[in-house]
Amino acid sequence: MGHLEENLDRVRQRIREAALRAGRRPESIRLLAVTKTVPVERIQQVVDAGVDLLGENRVQELLEKYPQVHGPVRWHMIGTLQTNKVKYIYDKVELIHSLDRLSLAQAIDHQASRFGRPIDCLVEVNVAGEETKHGVDRRDAISFIRDVMTLEGIHIRGLMTMAPYAEKPEEARPVFRDLYQLAREVEDLRLPRVDMEHLSMGMSNDFEVAVEEGATIVRIGSGLFGGRS
Ligand SMILES: *Cc1c(COP(=O)(O)O)cnc(C)c1O
Repeated sequence: MGHLEENLDRVRQRIREAALRAGRRPESIRLLAVTKTVPVERIQQVVDAGVDLLGENRVQELLEKYPQVHGPVRWHMIGTLQTNKVKYIYDKVELIHSLDRLSLAQAIDHQASRFGRPIDCLVEVNVAGEETKHGVDRRDAISFIRDVMTLEGIHIRGLMTMAPYAEKPEEARPVFRDLYQLAREVEDLRLPRVDMEHLSMGMSNDFEVAVEEGATIVRIGSGLFGGRS
């Protein structure tokens, strides 16, 4: 397993150091291993090494891998989700990170009514306003959350964002800081079925900055598994 275990140790160590720099408890940050394009055997290796949180960004891949990976592990849906695919995953994932439009919220709500309990979601916010990115526009985030709040089948557990790719991780800091700020604003509204327990932000190239700015879930792919083909 070599590399994989070393990568994992290094990532954990860097999360820990970033947390301590920011005066945070390292245990308050969850490492989510992003397993897109990664074969099941390698996923199993990180699970055996203690990773308990996996994330996929495509429904098909999640469905294939879900029954094949063994151990005390939870799956999260982190990628764009089509409304007609919610039915395949709502009972398999602990958290959907990519709630970004009302039609999707309604589809999730519909499945929740059959499930008999609310489904946990993060609202994905396009903080930087990039045209190519998914997510609710920063300016519309609060009104979107108010709309979703009317659906009893959804429990909003926090926010998610992807920072624009940058050479220097430091360039992502204003994005992460803004998401943190937005979470505090939402918290102050004290809306039903809305809490700001989680901030899902930070990927392989910028997770330390995200941890310094309050991330509770960092989503790491290539930093664990190496580059994707
Ligand atoms: C691929 C992906 C990641 C991980 O990216 P890396 O740069 O490989 O760490 C994180 N979040 C989402 C939504 C992704 O699609």
